[in-house]
Amino acid sequence: MEEERTEIQDLGEFGLIEYLTRNIEIQNASTVLGVGDDAAVIDHFGKQTVISTDMLVEGIHFDLMYTPLKHLGYKSVVVNLSDIYAMNATPTQITVSIAFSNRFSLEALNEFYEGVYAACEKYGVDLVGGDTSNSQKGFVISVTAIGEVTPDTFVKRSTAQKGDLLCVTGDLGAAYLGLTLLEREKKIFLESPTVKPDLENQTYIIGRQLKPEARKDIIEFLQQEDILPTAMMDVSDGLSSEILHIAKQSNLGVVLYEEKIPIAQESKEIAMKFGLDPTACALSGGEDYELLFTMKQQDYDKIVLNEQISVIGYMADISEGAHIHTKGGNKFKLVAQGWNAFKQ
Ligand code: ADP
Ligand code: MG
Repeated sequence: MEEERTEIQDLGEFGLIEYLTRNIEIQNASTVLGVGDDAAVIDHFGKQTVISTDMLVEGIHFDLMYTPLKHLGYKSVVVNLSDIYAMNATPTQITVSIAFSNRFSLEALNEFYEGVYAACEKYGVDLVGGDTSNSQKGFVISVTAIGEVTPDTFVKRSTAQKGDLLCVTGDLGAAYLGLTLLEREKKIFLESPTVKPDLENQTYIIGRQLKPEARKDIIEFLQQEDILPTAMMDVSDGLSSEILHIAKQSNLGVVLYEEKIPIAQESKEIAMKFGLDPTACALSGGEDYELLFTMKQQDYDKIVLNEQISVIGYMADISEGAHIHTKGGNKFKLVAQGWNAFKQ
């Protein structure tokens, strides 16, 4: 069956915007005015406003060969919401700007927006604007997320204290392993298109790469338990680089224990298969979108039963530097390799 293809030119820019935003239903009282005017209007009723923006470029941040457009729309929103949660804030609105070539049909953009709206619904945010443009080649996406926070309860990276516990949510390294698997299958496919991709039993790591979630649940948990982290950020570039950001910006040293780093069983197995060290994947892989935070030792009892939170180390005096204690009993200097650590 041939897929339907509607050229964007047939609608024009305004027709396209109208089409893509036709079903918006405002979910937040703070959204005073949404799509359709020169600007949106937001009233956070005495709360402080948090704002963050991210750009995603085809060929740099995503590959349409193995990324379904719906997943891409979802992920483009989620990675921005993750930044808002990482400030201990609640996201309320987003704007989505896109530039695309004539390779994209209306049906393709519609798929992308299905993902955008699925994320809006799941996280309770309103799409209140954006911009639409052409590009000569490639798809470019820019999302801005806006959130609210009770005055002065936002959490920065620079305010950790000596002796604070270092905590991380969920598990790490899976998104990087998912990417490695997808890249490997792509290469095999390009070399011999008749070979079927072998992605069976890998739904966990592939899901972590293609459809990440933001840790709304953790922010709600911390609020319920009356825990205000002393510092926080999201894990987008790999654990080691993020830990070093908190340590450096807080003027502290840090001690990390390898055995405490949470890694899913599925990730360990696939890492072995690829001949990769699971710890290296957690430290230097990226895109996990978990939360890394520090908190006072007194709060430990409140988190000990939460399986989604692991204590992985503590903040030390700056004179101690930043180190990881390995399972084998060695102590190494912690270095940031970032998300491209394994790329040639
Ligand atoms: P302007 O010429 O002032 O930039 P536009 O014609 O680009 O206005 O946009 C008209 C309205 O549609 C604005 O509210 C804008 O935020 C919204 N909009 C434009 N592109 C998008 C998009 N891709 N997704 C959602 N809203 C959009
Ligand atoms: Mg515009």
